[in-house]
Amino acid sequence: MSDCLFCKIVAKEIPAQIVYEDDDLLAFKDINPQAPVHLLVIPKEHIASLAEATPAQAGLLGKLVLRVKLLAQEQGLAEDGYRVVVNCRDLGGQTVPHLHFHLLGGRFMTWPPG
Ligand code: 5GP
Ligand code: ZN
Repeated sequence: MSDCLFCKIVAKEIPAQIVYEDDDLLAFKDINPQAPVHLLVIPKEHIASLAEATPAQAGLLGKLVLRVKLLAQEQGLAEDGYRVVVNCRDLGGQTVPHLHFHLLGGRFMTWPPG
């Protein structure tokens, strides 16, 4: 997806503060952090949102979720806790149409969200 912001970050066409990368996944700091730790964890493959995910991507999605867990540990969030958010399409508040998991931590999270 040549016009996708996060595909451009994957392709290193747009800079980002990358904290983790492997063949399938990328994690980088959110440009507008909502907590002391705010990472975005994405599949390198373009998946527009969770609504577009397919059973064929089950392995990739499992790796993504477990990577979020490991990043939370590495960021020192695991003991106190953290929040993982996936906004999906317009009413979910998704603004970048490339699947991403927000990893948020380092402050107390209120519920429900706005
Ligand atoms: P969404 O609202 O789609 O769930 O989340 C998109 C996130 O991407 C937002 O938290 C926003 O701050 C972040 N974001 C938007 N543009 C950029 C960018 O160019 N670089 C980085 N690192 N984050 C971005
Ligand atoms: Zn994309």
